Amino acid sequence: DLPDPRTGAAVKAADRAHVFHSWSAQGLIDPLAVAGAEGAYFWDYDGNRYLDFTSGLVYTNIGYQHPKVVAAIQEQAGRLATFAPAFAIDVRSEAARLIAERTPGDLDKIFFTNGGAEAVENAARMARVHTGRPKIMSAYRSYHGATSTAINLTGDPRRWASDTASAGVVHFWAPFLYRSPFYAETEAQECERALTHLEDTLAFEGPQTIAAILLETVPGTAGIMTPPPGYLAGVREICDRYGIVFILDEVMAGFGRTGRWFAAEHFDVVPDLLTFAKGVNSGYVPLGGVAISAEIAATFDKRPYPGGLTYSGHPLACAAAVATIQVMADEQVVEHAAHLGETVLGPGLRELAERHPSVGEVRGLGAFWALDLVRNRETREPLVPYNAAGEANAPMAAFGAACKKNGLWPFINMNRTHAVPACNITEAEAKEGLAALDAALAVADEHAA
Ligand code: PLP
Repeated sequence: DLPDPRTGAAVKAADRAHVFHSWSAQGLIDPLAVAGAEGAYFWDYDGNRYLDFTSGLVYTNIGYQHPKVVAAIQEQAGRLATFAPAFAIDVRSEAARLIAERTPGDLDKIFFTNGGAEAVENAARMARVHTGRPKIMSAYRSYHGATSTAINLTGDPRRWASDTASAGVVHFWAPFLYRSPFYAETEAQECERALTHLEDTLAFEGPQTIAAILLETVPGTAGIMTPPPGYLAGVREICDRYGIVFILDEVMAGFGRTGRWFAAEHFDVVPDLLTFAKGVNSGYVPLGGVAISAEIAATFDKRPYPGGLTYSGHPLACAAAVATIQVMADEQVVEHAAHLGETVLGPGLRELAERHPSVGEVRGLGAFWALDLVRNRETREPLVPYNAAGEANAPMAAFGAACKKNGLWPFINMNRTHAVPACNITEAEAKEGLAALDAALAVADEHAA
């Protein structure tokens, strides 16, 4: 007895009957029933249309329902819908070639996974087997996924409940000038002190016990903190000095989000391993992976790699990746994201900050922006406390509700809202989003001095 799916209420009731949602108290959630989506928009069953300033979970870099990618998936389904990973499959090889052509340096071998967490999980394993060392270092203020090792490597409160088995993980502070862990006042100070802190942490952990240092190139969910000039190059140098594998997690920052194919290009650094997912095929079919340097790949030339997945390099996911990368190249989506950041989103958000006392800082690049909302610009006290829930989080909840009332679906994390629309959003659509944010920020301003 399936409920009549033609109304939002029926769709929601069916969801609440059997679907168990991520990160949620199941009895307290009220998921919107979505009837459809196209480009940068989606809509419900009651005639409400939303401009998606979240790109799903920051992954629909080419927007929803791109006809060429949908057609490529349909075509692949008709030709060869699935095949096991041990075989050579044309579309899998082509996806790997297109990705390897774009990853920096000699990251030319691609291990496919089903998403970002598995990519991090396998990068950590590769580093440990390659070096024979036990520990991985990662930053506070990071997100790396929800599987066992990936969640332990994460540096936000989502890790805490899973910290029962976090052996082999060490956290450190990465640079973030606006809320500097090092009391720095300039980017140069922040960079220098963050590198000294990393060296000090390494010295006390024992560099010979560290397999890898893992960083998001530009931390995403944690607040879109572009690292200061010289920081990533400094980490690269430290890794080289101690024989440590340098892993950059580009699950969120990769595939055009920052206005480059990979964010590492902005900083002229080449990691030993690079994880990707999300934008690789805009999530039309689950796909992630690890791009592997020649040296680490060589470790597994004669020795078997001790890891694998039934759906590694799934043909439907790879067909979606081939089509997505082609669309991004043909339609200059990466260049467009850079242009949007420089001419519309960056200037537009800074202009909002001038008029709204609740905006403490605007930061970002490409189609990857954060507004740090505060009660007081002088003290930088966040609009809501760290990891606030319930009544303590009411100002952000009111801000979110105001966005939705104005037709904008906002990305909200703690005291921040992120402007992370599809990378191919038009200038007019981006301006529509800025106008909705403008109206909603008036609600946040009520809590700011
Ligand atoms: N790494 C980063 C930087 C992410 O932003 C995410 C997801 O948001 C992940 C890893 C985990 O990816 P997934 O949810 O596909 O497992």
